[in-house]
Amino acid sequence: MNHPHIAITGGAGFLGSYLCERLLGEGYHVTCVDNFSTGSMTNVEHLMPHTGFRMLRADVSLHLTVPGDLDAILHFASPASPTDYLRLPIDTLRVGSNGTFNALELAKEKRARFLLASTSEAYGDPLVHPQPEGYWGNVNPIGPRGVYDEAKRFAEALTMAYRRAGDVDTAIVRIFNTFGPRMRPFDGRAIPTFIRQALLGEPVTVAGDGSQTRSICYVDDLIDGIVRMLNSNLEGPINLGNPHEISMLELAEWIKRLTRSSSEIDFVPRPQDDPSVRCPDITLARTRLGWAPRVPIEEGLERTVEWFRAHPGLWDDKAPA
Ligand code: NAD
Repeated sequence: MNHPHIAITGGAGFLGSYLCERLLGEGYHVTCVDNFSTGSMTNVEHLMPHTGFRMLRADVSLHLTVPGDLDAILHFASPASPTDYLRLPIDTLRVGSNGTFNALELAKEKRARFLLASTSEAYGDPLVHPQPEGYWGNVNPIGPRGVYDEAKRFAEALTMAYRRAGDVDTAIVRIFNTFGPRMRPFDGRAIPTFIRQALLGEPVTVAGDGSQTRSICYVDDLIDGIVRMLNSNLEGPINLGNPHEISMLELAEWIKRLTRSSSEIDFVPRPQDDPSVRCPDITLARTRLGWAPRVPIEEGLERTVEWFRAHPGLWDDKAPA
């Protein structure tokens, strides 16, 4: 039997590893390409015995070759958390530019569908709320976060240029904050940070007065949306995220309650250019992909807390220097 073959850049990361798993389960052969800069072998080692799974260690910003025919390429390689992209600013710009260029060239050579993992950060600190795909965003290109936001905006422009040239069948998803098991306790994102602090009884550090909002989507829902986009003939960009908006203070209190923690809440300064609001308009995803998140946030948080409790070794990791 002929299996469709898919390459996933960044496949050993948080989202990439779920995609590897899900697509193997659907009968794909999966080539995972990763340089392990922010990902980890532990995310995919359970897939190694699978005959359809192949791991390639490579920096996609330098070159990208995958042997054999390819039906699709999911381009997920990029530092993604603020801690990571502020530590790896040049790598982040390189993977958004050179890495995306290499992935698109490979898609062109193999006549494969190409799907770009873009981000809600493309909207910057938005002046339109909630954010529909037609909103062009409010990004500070020279602020510290610009390395990520602009890398992704460039990646979107490059993807559309290949599409318009008729060279590649492309798709863009703009992913809003996603959470779940396999997040790293020191990746700097609010949910793993709050869970780690609450479980260790340390102060839970909320930026500013905690009134800034995010919309958070459980990982299983997000992966389902990405697979629907892959299987469609849509080009996007299309927002994937949970429109249920919560404030950071509310999130910290939920996590304290779920972990039964007596941690204090400490208010710390807000990072530069931290968006005040963030919420997807998912009308397009609902109508064109028949997609909407299903897992209630509290249930997703419970599953995530349970996973962190079951992996106490993670606390031995140190925050990156
Ligand atoms: P992650 O850091 O867990 O995964 C990224 C993976 O890419 C890692 O395995 C890393 O080692 C790999 N990588 C980075 N640079 C590479 C390079 N040059 N060559 C090869 N591999 C490289 O992050 P994630 O949360 O899984 O995010 C995956 C993708 O989804 C990213 O492109 C990110 O921008 C996008 N995204 C994620 C979220 C989210 O909430 N998690 C939100 C919006 C967009």
